Order: sequence, then C-alpha cells, then structure tokens
Amino acid sequence: MSTLSTTRTAARDLLATLGTASATEWRTCFSSNGSEEPTGIAPVCPDEDHEEDDGSVYDCCAEPVIECGSYPMAAYLAALLNADRGAA
Ligand SMILES: [Zn+2]
Repeated sequence: MSTLSTTRTAARDLLATLGTASATEWRTCFSSNGSEEPTGIAPVCPDEDHEEDDGSVYDCCAEPVIECGSYPMAAYLAALLNADRGAA
C-alpha cells in the first residue's frame, strides 16, 4: 500500500469515528482561533439556511472543524480532500 493510500485510509477511519463519511465535501471556515481569515476546514453545511459563501460555523454545522494554521493551508487541504473524495 502506498503512503498516500495508507494515510488516506487512516484519516478516513478517524473521520468515520467522528461521523464524517469519505464522500463528505469540505469547505474553509472560520475556526475559533480569532483569525480574520478562514484558517480552518469543516464539512460543507447541509442546512439550507446556511449560505454557501458564509464561512462561519454555527450550531447547524457538522463537526469536525480542523484548524489548519493559515488560509492557504486550509484552502489547499479542503481542495485536496474534495479532489480525493472518490478515490479508493
Ligand atoms: Zn451550518
């Protein structure tokens, strides 16, 4: 098994314990670190009252919120997870 495959499986197993399916779509979000930029990632919120371009996290939003330290890393990890959604 490749490193990518091994780490993907381990991360998916971890996310599954948090109730996050491997098909989950991710977004950047404002985490609780007080940054003015969205430096976290979270699952796309399915609530129809939560507008798509609103990066805040509310009670309607699914966990986990993962703090990534900076907006470029958050945007990259969300894009990477989304590109990897269908991969085995
Ligand atoms: Zn929400």
